[in-house]
Amino acid sequence: MQQETLLTFLLFLHILTARVYSSSSSSEEDEGSSEDKHKESHHGHHWGYTDQKAWASAFQHCNGKSQSPINIDTRTAVHMPRLPSIMLDGYDLTDQPTLTLKNNGHTLVLKLPGSMRIVHGFDEVFIADHLHFHWGTIEEPGSEHTIDTIHFPAEIHVVHYNSKYHNLSEAATMPDGLAVLGAFIGIGLHENDNYEKILSVLTDVSIEESNTQIPGFNVRHLLPNSLDRFYRYNGSLTTPPCFQTVNWTIFNDTIRVSRKQLASLEETLKVDKNHRLNKNFRAPQLLYGRQVQASFSSRPLVKSPRIIPLTESEDSKRDGLTKGDVLAIVFGILFGITVLAFVAYAYQHRKKSSKLSKDPHQNVIYKLATKEEA
Ligand SMILES: [Zn+2]
Repeated sequence: MQQETLLTFLLFLHILTARVYSSSSSSEEDEGSSEDKHKESHHGHHWGYTDQKAWASAFQHCNGKSQSPINIDTRTAVHMPRLPSIMLDGYDLTDQPTLTLKNNGHTLVLKLPGSMRIVHGFDEVFIADHLHFHWGTIEEPGSEHTIDTIHFPAEIHVVHYNSKYHNLSEAATMPDGLAVLGAFIGIGLHENDNYEKILSVLTDVSIEESNTQIPGFNVRHLLPNSLDRFYRYNGSLTTPPCFQTVNWTIFNDTIRVSRKQLASLEETLKVDKNHRLNKNFRAPQLLYGRQVQASFSSRPLVKSPRIIPLTESEDSKRDGLTKGDVLAIVFGILFGITVLAFVAYAYQHRKKSSKLSKDPHQNVIYKLATKEEA
């Protein structure tokens, strides 16, 4: 009897542990259905971030099965050691007299010259068209892609089109048309001089559809120092018409800007005269079996969505056990104990029953009819 009680107790512990474990990991699946509760709604555009579910009815591709952005699950990303490295050419625009920066009502866009290219990393050369940003608010980080469901404060996208096509709009509808380089923007202690070249003139483009000219600079410096560590998957434009023609590269390393610089991005631009342009990020989309590849094997450590360690070598800091690891160990131990207890119980039970069958006087069925027993 005692053994049965022990078994029941252990089973109960199992169920309890399994519940805790599943509730701690289920939040990772909730992202795709997260609702945008933004107050600001239609403001003269055909689409907005407040009603993302409505995109699919007006733009059929938005309902496809290779949509972007996605959550990048670092545990299931497949390490591909042979992913060719990314090599950029013509990104240094220091000699360019001016570049056009525009508030298009959805984002901040920097138009780029066709001399900027990705010359290694894909089957073809890809030509840069523009770069733009996605951001949130001081309360809500606004990157589009997430790493293990964690949003970063902002995200930069450098949009390129395949050089075998004439321009971005022609390439955008072709399966091999686009390559977008994406990187996360986090908060560091120091002002980022490279980002300041864009952020210092935001007040000039605060009104929707306004633009300004800024002097050329090295656009390479808007991306992380190392381009070696990245994730790769097939996806889409993250805005309508959501064409599923983007070969995505999301860099693992993060860019840092100061808190003040991030605030200027979050608070300066306007849409429709008096609404703040922020929270311009689409919710992560379902994978539908797509594979996310990684150019590197080790898992990054994401400690906080807004504060990112200042050291470049984040590798050294990933020794600790995660909550999931601890639960897995506890679960494993409990499972082991249960198996042992069950084996012990079964052994004893067998011993007992074999003893019973050996004793002819214990055979109740045959004894009932006899008088000796009465
Ligand atoms: Zn984008």
